[in-house]
Amino acid sequence: MITYKAGKQPDSREYRLIFKNVDRESWDPSIDCYLRDGGYEDLKKAMGMEPKAITEEVKKSGLRGRGGAGFPTGLKWTFIPPNNTKPVYLICNCDESEPGTFKDRYIVHQDPHQLVEGMVISCFAVGAKVAYIYIREEFPEAALILENAIAEAKAKNFVGTNVLGSGFDVEIYVHRGAAAYICGEETGLIESLEGKRAYPRIKPPYFPAALGLYMCPTIVNNVESLCHVKHIVRMGGDEYAKLGVKNNTGTRILCVSGDVKKPGYFEVEVGKVTMRELLYDMCGGPKDRREFKAVIPGGSSAKILRCDESFTLKGKGPEGADLKISFWDIPMDFDSLAACGSMAGSGGVIVMDDTRKMSWVLNNLNTFYAHESCGQCTPCREGSMWMKKISDRIVAGEASPKDIATLESVAYQIDGRTICAFGEASSWPVEAIIAKFRDELLADTKPENEEVPHNAEAQAQ
Ligand code: NAD
Ligand code: SF4
Repeated sequence: MITYKAGKQPDSREYRLIFKNVDRESWDPSIDCYLRDGGYEDLKKAMGMEPKAITEEVKKSGLRGRGGAGFPTGLKWTFIPPNNTKPVYLICNCDESEPGTFKDRYIVHQDPHQLVEGMVISCFAVGAKVAYIYIREEFPEAALILENAIAEAKAKNFVGTNVLGSGFDVEIYVHRGAAAYICGEETGLIESLEGKRAYPRIKPPYFPAALGLYMCPTIVNNVESLCHVKHIVRMGGDEYAKLGVKNNTGTRILCVSGDVKKPGYFEVEVGKVTMRELLYDMCGGPKDRREFKAVIPGGSSAKILRCDESFTLKGKGPEGADLKISFWDIPMDFDSLAACGSMAGSGGVIVMDDTRKMSWVLNNLNTFYAHESCGQCTPCREGSMWMKKISDRIVAGEASPKDIATLESVAYQIDGRTICAFGEASSWPVEAIIAKFRDELLADTKPENEEVPHNAEAQAQ
């Protein structure tokens, strides 16, 4: 068993803040263990603060949402209308379903009180008396662990009526999801929580911070984001912001899967580790006699990057000059990955070596998105299904070069024309794989597979 302590790990690029107790020797998820380690001290501190002061610290910390979009958490909290008279809700999004992402599950399984403490502090800051943890159906054990942790916290008055004698009341409920990827989209999640089919809402105008659950102001934050809040209260926003790099502060958990020697989860300071350091130093490099080929750096919705690409980062060089970097020098942060045409997303780093055929990768992604489209809007429902049908033909060796062009055209017709971000999530991987591996895909097609138009005979006459 590896023993971890908080902070920078000796001889490693890891920095353990949120994962301090994950895989820790003699650690268990009970409240007694958590209290022995100083648990709920940050809640006690928060209860002595003004709610607005907590939001201010979260803003100062620069924390950006760890669910995928990287939206500033403190700013989101300030979107609750100032003259609001309706109840405010907090929802913890524990529907972790982005392919390649497996961090929230470990927090819940091994350190559930960290989440409960972060949630109670966040509820106090935003004025929510009711909070929900929306947990995916496929995490049955995690749901039981959370229910037990909430009961333990309630017995010690960290949750419930008059928390620690502060006069603040809060209840937390665990709600099991409906086993669909779209339930993780925050407005689909809200619809599902309301007992309806998880059809995402159009936003704007319905941003949940103003009009969310039961049309009341609702803050939806990811598990990891809510855990960070307790550390921000302890450290103070300015101190927390010293971790990571400018505009990309704190730590984040990267989940590495695929073709590396040592896949797994790694908590790092945001932007302080490059792609090379992550994949070679931390993950042990490629498997024997293999070479890295491509990486999807932020969950399946992020655009694929080739390992032999290079990029220009605008204004990132000395004295604001442009900086040319190779794929291997990309810092693992929100802004750098966006500048390289992809995104940091949910932190799921999917690695492919030279054994992976891109037509197979494309088809694998298309199969997932075609299955998970909620079907509410036509470009996504029809487009994701047709993209899968075309990539089925490519992997079966039945496609013609024209099919690649059709596939590309379908993807571009989905992009930007749908109700929720799922549309882009399904079309971006296709656009990027075709743009970067066109020759490889074309090599899997046969010109003689070109279909004869139905009316060819009539035309000939
Ligand atoms: P988004 O950019 O639309 O929104 C991000 C957050 O900011 C939301 O909470 C939204 O309500 C809020 N927001 C944005 N603009 C606002 C405004 N003007 N006023 C009020 N609030 C505002 O992104 P999204 O659709 O929430 O998330 C997309 C990301 O989710 C993808 O990038 C993907 O990486 C990720 N994702 C993660 C998982 C997972 O398992 N963790 C699953 C699927 C997708
Ligand atoms: Fe549903 Fe897709 Fe439309 Fe999102 S984009 S609402 S998943 S059909």
